[in-house]
Amino acid sequence: YAAKRQLSGALRYDPALDLASAQTLSLLTELRRAVEHNELRLYLQPKLALHGQPGLAAEALVRWQHPQRGLVAPMHFIPFAEQTGFVRQLTLWIFEEVARLLAAQEARHLPLRVSVNLSTRDLLDPELSTRLAAILARHGVQASAFCLEITESAIMDDPQRAEAMLNRLSQQGFKLSIDDFGTGYSSLAYLRRLPVDELKIDKSFVMGMQAGEDDAMIVRSTIELAHNLGLTVVAEGVETAAILERLRTLACDEAQGYHIARPLPVDDFLAWQARQG
Ligand code: C2E
Ligand code: MG
Ligand code: MG
Ligand code: MG
Repeated sequence: YAAKRQLSGALRYDPALDLASAQTLSLLTELRRAVEHNELRLYLQPKLALHGQPGLAAEALVRWQHPQRGLVAPMHFIPFAEQTGFVRQLTLWIFEEVARLLAAQEARHLPLRVSVNLSTRDLLDPELSTRLAAILARHGVQASAFCLEITESAIMDDPQRAEAMLNRLSQQGFKLSIDDFGTGYSSLAYLRRLPVDELKIDKSFVMGMQAGEDDAMIVRSTIELAHNLGLTVVAEGVETAAILERLRTLACDEAQGYHIARPLPVDDFLAWQARQG
């Protein structure tokens, strides 16, 4: 009973968490067990092409199928996993699940492109690109089928080391995306130097497009900026048909959001794709 109380306490993320506390150790044990007992789940959310070639694309989003608590959303354990460094194992698990799926889809002649989220810890791990390369080789898939999503704040944590790793990943053939664009503190001059392929407009701006002209203007300007820099631009958090149409008019390249589809378990995602024809 005591252990259970500690876990439920720890799942309410506390930024002032003492890394040596019993609570922290308990959640870390739970997370390790989650990987060993296959409690993590890969979910995929479709990315819809608004113009031109409708290649199949999705973002990988992790869930934790906890034996007592049910399906746990990443906000309840990703910040903790980042703080403890456990996220590096979690990233490799997600990456391998995606690689396995990509290999299976290629065998069925249904190629897919998948975006995987990286955290600061991943980016600053000197072993990252070697570990990813080993997984690619094991499953016989190309780096170019992957897009790696990094937030501005993850980059700005240690810009020099981040830049070196991004250059390596780009040379390996991975596509790179700046996630939650507009919420961080990176400078445009700096972003311009990075080997980035895509900007992903944060959902707060996209969701606000309906209510206010400020957010609509920010979205429009970001699309223009991305295109002027030669980047693809994706809107996340598209919740209504009206916003989707507006993004199409603004020449946004891709859209992602509940109006199109929620993040889905792999089998449901493949069924969704098949229905699109
Ligand atoms: P993110 O990478 O920015 O992912 C987008 C989040 O927005 C996802 O939340 C997605 O479910 C949600 N979303 C998508 N469409 C809509 C919409 O129309 N409306 C609203 N309100 N939300 C929408 P989710 O899956 O809860 O993930 C939250 C965050 O957790 C992610 O934000 C990402 O930062 C992190 N995360 C998720 N999976 C992973 C992972 O495998 N590795 C790492 N490092 N981080 C992950
Ligand atoms: Mg993302
Ligand atoms: Mg995002
Ligand atoms: Mg986010």
